[in-house]
Amino acid sequence: MQVVETVPALRAARAALDGRVGLVTTMGALHAGHLALVEQARAENDAVLVTIFVNPTQFAPHEDLSKYPRDLPRDLAMLEAASVDLVFTPVPQVMYPPGFQTVVEVTEISQGLEGEHRPGHFQGVATVVAKLFNLAQADRAYFGQKDAQQAAVIRTMARDLNFPLEVIICPTVRESDGLAMSSRNVYLTPEQRRAAPVLYRALQAAGKAYADGERRPDSLQQCVLDVLTTEPLAQIEYVSVCDARTLQNSTTTGDMPLLVSMAVKIGLTRLIDNCLLPNELNTRDGLTDLLGGVASIPHI
Ligand code: AMP
Repeated sequence: MQVVETVPALRAARAALDGRVGLVTTMGALHAGHLALVEQARAENDAVLVTIFVNPTQFAPHEDLSKYPRDLPRDLAMLEAASVDLVFTPVPQVMYPPGFQTVVEVTEISQGLEGEHRPGHFQGVATVVAKLFNLAQADRAYFGQKDAQQAAVIRTMARDLNFPLEVIICPTVRESDGLAMSSRNVYLTPEQRRAAPVLYRALQAAGKAYADGERRPDSLQQCVLDVLTTEPLAQIEYVSVCDARTLQNSTTTGDMPLLVSMAVKIGLTRLIDNCLLPNELNTRDGLTDLLGGVASIPHI
């Protein structure tokens, strides 16, 4: 496994990779969710390139950039064990040298949900991922359902800007009690950690209501709220039930696939989680078809 830190070194090492290249972009502090993306990339490509970069432009001033967990030696050991070929670990000055002034804005699908609660976040994400796509020259890029709106934003950007690669979305990997794996879970105290699976239980309640025939978005949203409000440590930021293709609110009760998503603070830690309904869609192919997929663009 080769580890490179500069753009010229990355370009040279990338040029030396043979065959199809799969890309996984991360902010490090790796866990089994990241490794599932790496494994999928390994299985579907000849070579795997992973990037580790805590991107400052996607954090708002009050967010956790300075305390975001970092452990490069541990991350590299995990990637080596997962048979990764090439790792790019730039410092911020490599990605944003003096004079840097270009941004990528994906207008509609970035609004609402996380975009509404984290202004500027998706502009930071889209810009850095566009740069990483240009640097990696990959054939396929793998993203996690855990950040469903992010995946939809990147899918839309890749299509709109004609990036010659396939964006693939992989299911959320969870702890045994259902908590979605996240680098931020290390912030939780033991008491908060015990409270955190309430997000998953709330998604399950919506899934059960859906399986029992409930289709009204506001009723499904209420199922989620009913579970979340049983947990005194949970401070709800939003709970949304929207059209999984467009991420727009839907008042109709047709049989279109739905994305149930939420952001909940437990103490100072902001957790997000989501699922598609029906539950059978929470697979690589179901997610990849729907989130920001071609189906979301009515004129195609
Ligand atoms: P991050 O390091 O948090 O920026 O995440 C890097 C990639 O891993 C993104 O595509 C995330 O959506 C994905 N990811 C993070 N957590 C999980 C998880 N629990 N399951 C699947 N993918 C994940």
